[in-house]
Amino acid sequence: LKEVTEGKVRIFVPDPKEYMIEGKFDPSWAPVFYNPKMTFNRDLSVIVVSLLKPKIILDALSATGIRGIRYYVESWKSEQLILNDKNSTAASLIQINVKNNGIENAKIYNKDANALLYEIKSEYIDIDPFGSPVPFILSSVNATIRNGIVAFTATDLSPLEGSSRTSCRRKYDAINYKLSSSKELGLRILIGKIIREAATLEKTVHPLFSFYADYYYRLFVIVESGARKADENINKNLKYFGECPRCGFQTFVDENCKTKCPICGENFIIIGPLYIGPLHNMEFLKRMIDTYSDFNYLSSFNRIQKLLNVIEKEAKYKSVFYNISKLASKLKVSAIPPIDSILECLGDASKTHFAPTGIRTDKGYEEIIRCVKSLR
Ligand code: SAM
Repeated sequence: LKEVTEGKVRIFVPDPKEYMIEGKFDPSWAPVFYNPKMTFNRDLSVIVVSLLKPKIILDALSATGIRGIRYYVESWKSEQLILNDKNSTAASLIQINVKNNGIENAKIYNKDANALLYEIKSEYIDIDPFGSPVPFILSSVNATIRNGIVAFTATDLSPLEGSSRTSCRRKYDAINYKLSSSKELGLRILIGKIIREAATLEKTVHPLFSFYADYYYRLFVIVESGARKADENINKNLKYFGECPRCGFQTFVDENCKTKCPICGENFIIIGPLYIGPLHNMEFLKRMIDTYSDFNYLSSFNRIQKLLNVIEKEAKYKSVFYNISKLASKLKVSAIPPIDSILECLGDASKTHFAPTGIRTDKGYEEIIRCVKSLR
């Protein structure tokens, strides 16, 4: 074992040196999983949990226990802290790490997360699996109490972003293609799936805060009960998305049917179902922005500041971002104008954290094209 410091905690993790293969190391080769590249994900989650102050925290897929332990030490001393992993070596390591961080009242389980989630209820549930969170959606949404929160990590970007289309159909029950703004659409497909799963329990979910980073999505949803609320959310926020393969025009559409592009008449590529509503709760986002500077000890503080600054600006636009480099290549515009000059030309527009060549605006396609072309 090796002791590492992350945030304000010190935890024991398997020593990477002992599990190297030909001089290389992958966290999944160790008997218990610890990935330092996920520190940014955990850092932001610490800030989210500090605002939520849940009475009960359940870290359902804990591995070393780092997440739950950090929430307790850095965010908020919840009345109950529950940590679980089905791997017995992980469960033993969680015992050690909890004790070493002076936490007396944690409950540690060595169970299948789905079995545990049907035994206990919680106000905040963290689902941080390998790959897709889909096998844990129903049980986690079901296990929330009092408008509780579920936090999902999804690292299976290839189905969500339309590279593995059959896998997307299988896991997310959605038709998908790789499109110009798939970085954002993948998150919307994930939320759409959670809404449909929750609806079977006469519950529904709304995103509180969400983002894309490195090779994963992180999404916090608030769970609400009631068949009517579930129906309303489905009717209002579950639709399809179309992109024109010829001119790049994009729009949400009601049905998954053959629809022609209103600009150039080409057949749309349609994906979905997916969620078309806001990706954040604006009030919560404001609280995040007002609070994050209290966490300036975090190693990813500058990155957090940058992300929140962009998200604050882009969150006011309802449309999916336009990927200017993809759009320019469809229009055979060879030199792409700098993003800042396009933003200036549009006036009411922002960058997006999803892609460096993306812009977000509620202005029409024609206006975007005019700016892209006039700046050549
Ligand atoms: N949350 C951890 C962190 O932030 O470092 C990482 C969790 S790791 C990606 C996923 C963990 O889930 C592994 O430790 C694995 O043993 C555990 N796991 C996988 N399937 C499970 C299941 N069905 N029930 C409980 N634990 C499971």
